Amino acid sequence: MHLDLTDRVVVVTGAARGIGAVIAARFAAEGCRVVALDLAFDAAAGPGPDVDRVVCDVTAPDSVRTAVDTVVERHGTIDVLVNNAGINVEGLVADLDWDAWRRCMDVNVGGTFLVSRAVSPVMRAAGRGRIVNAASFAAIVPSVGSAAYAASKAAVVQFTRVLASELGPWGITVNAYAPGMVPTAMNGFAEMPPEQQDRLLDTLSLRRWETPDDVADLLVFLASDAASYITGTLVDVSGGKLATQIPARAHGR
Ligand code: NAD
Repeated sequence: MHLDLTDRVVVVTGAARGIGAVIAARFAAEGCRVVALDLAFDAAAGPGPDVDRVVCDVTAPDSVRTAVDTVVERHGTIDVLVNNAGINVEGLVADLDWDAWRRCMDVNVGGTFLVSRAVSPVMRAAGRGRIVNAASFAAIVPSVGSAAYAASKAAVVQFTRVLASELGPWGITVNAYAPGMVPTAMNGFAEMPPEQQDRLLDTLSLRRWETPDDVADLLVFLASDAASYITGTLVDVSGGKLATQIPARAHGR
């Protein structure tokens, strides 16, 4: 299958580091014109010199409008939006701080809403487009202590379904994806003691950490013409996190 994305204009939020930076670099390698949106950029790190950078706080409506206008001024249109920006907030409900809860909802749900709202008219005018939203396995099977994060990601899934139908008349597809466990600054998996890492890996059918490229592979497909009839769905890219209860048995553990 040949997935030709040459010259597509791709916006990736939260792309200064982590999974987003790899997604942005990957679309650039596919021949796209890519713009990374984030709160700040480190001159020495991030998605690479072939990715345009625009500072944007996805929780601030004015910042989002200015950023989207800037992208359209520089690149003419937006073909693909990846709402990757997200934060993790952990804590038992009994101890969870109200501001932390609200911040989690603001970034993960509010940011996805604000950027999608700003980009939708551009895609409608073009009569095509792809929006892909970062959810998580936590939207389906949450962990203890993840009430804010899991609720925010479940909201992203429902938001995705509604937006898919609202943009269907223009042929624009809207999907969400559920990564499993990608070691990044967000979770510190790679720095955990080996026993703790083993416990987490034992929950995966494939029993290996996910890489940002595992996610990028899916996104390139979802952004391509080959995925033009897929919309309103949550794609599980978790390495089997949602498949069975004790997958470690199959690994002899
Ligand atoms: P990360 O913390 O490494 O990167 C997140 C990026 O989002 C950062 O660059 C940060 O600056 C940016 N960001 C945060 N708030 C922002 C705001 N208000 N405006 C603009 N940018 C903002 O996280 P990651 O692990 O790369 O995760 C990326 C996405 O994937 C998140 O939505 C996360 O919930 C989701 N996800 C990650 C995992 C995983 O295992 N890492 C699993 C499931 C889902």
